[in-house]
Amino acid sequence: VLLVSTTIGTLGSGRGGGVELTVLNVARALVERGHKVAIVAAEGSVAPGFDLLTVAGEPPAPAQHEPRNAPVVMPADSLVANFFWAAHRCQERFDIIVSFAYDWLAYFLTPFFQTPLAHVVGMSSLSDALDQVLARVAHQLPGRLAVHTRAQAATFDFADDLVVVGNGLDLSGYDFQAQSEPVLGWVARIAPEKGLEDAAAAAEASGLPLRVWGVIEDESYWSAVSARFPPAVLNYRGFLPTPQLQAELGKCRALLATHHWVEAFGNVVAESLAVGVPVISYRRGGPAELVRHGETGFLVEADSVAGLTAAVARIGELDRLACRQQAEAEFSLAALGRRFEAWLTPLLS
Ligand code: UDP
Repeated sequence: VLLVSTTIGTLGSGRGGGVELTVLNVARALVERGHKVAIVAAEGSVAPGFDLLTVAGEPPAPAQHEPRNAPVVMPADSLVANFFWAAHRCQERFDIIVSFAYDWLAYFLTPFFQTPLAHVVGMSSLSDALDQVLARVAHQLPGRLAVHTRAQAATFDFADDLVVVGNGLDLSGYDFQAQSEPVLGWVARIAPEKGLEDAAAAAEASGLPLRVWGVIEDESYWSAVSARFPPAVLNYRGFLPTPQLQAELGKCRALLATHHWVEAFGNVVAESLAVGVPVISYRRGGPAELVRHGETGFLVEADSVAGLTAAVARIGELDRLACRQQAEAEFSLAALGRRFEAWLTPLLS
């Protein structure tokens, strides 16, 4: 299996968001099931233990910060184009190619490969141009497109043509923590679609500090939010590699997942549950499909800081072990590998 990584950020940098972790976890899940895996990724990527083919080039702008009707823009020395040149050149060595690039060219090239090319669509509908090329692939090459949740699929007109594969984690790298400290956690790229200001406001109203982990993707957004709250409320801890992140996150009383967009999945929700930390989130997008309301977290009205605050007050009602158990039942690598095999096997013939 050849995996083509995201064109936004190098693996290990955090710039690519959850898809960086997803690529590595899918690779691990497939290897565990006896498959041989290689990964095409941007130059500078780190993926210990994997056959990595790194490619240089100019990355595209992140799709979520462009207007819906934005045209497709291709820089000189395009990284996406270079990724697919590389994949095209070595395609006969592989039975299937699975791309994670949320990119017009990646989707457009689907019928032009001899080795079946399939895509994990990592974001909800954001762009007219991408929706159009995705619709064409969905209709003309059934089964080639997968998404992470039903909520994400529902943002596309062709939801019924999308395979829902969920996501998974290497749970052996996440330690359950039964005890918590009186702090709340927030983990994401720091960018407007992640709604950090809502989490900080709810933390302030709850009288608990908010520990924040993630790459500062949008400096002006971070400056504006951090100016509104004292450091005792909004406590930035930087971007940590998974082993350190999970250890720190595990100390939190709850994770606040306050996305303003239709989050496709929300890796941080699965990671939080894996360390035994309940999740308080909005009834919107992937997190609303993942959290078991009243059991492993609380789901509140979207964009309601009052709802978040009321849920924080009830966090003691939840059993941290139930969170870990949900992660084991739903987000294991074994389950992820089985779902990917079920998706990809019919595409091989
Ligand atoms: N993350 C990390 N270290 C940090 C903060 C975040 O590795 O200090 C990772 C986290 O593990 C997750 C990703 O950043 O995989 C965020 O992904 P998510 O799916 O929640 O959102 P996205 O950024 O893809 O919109």
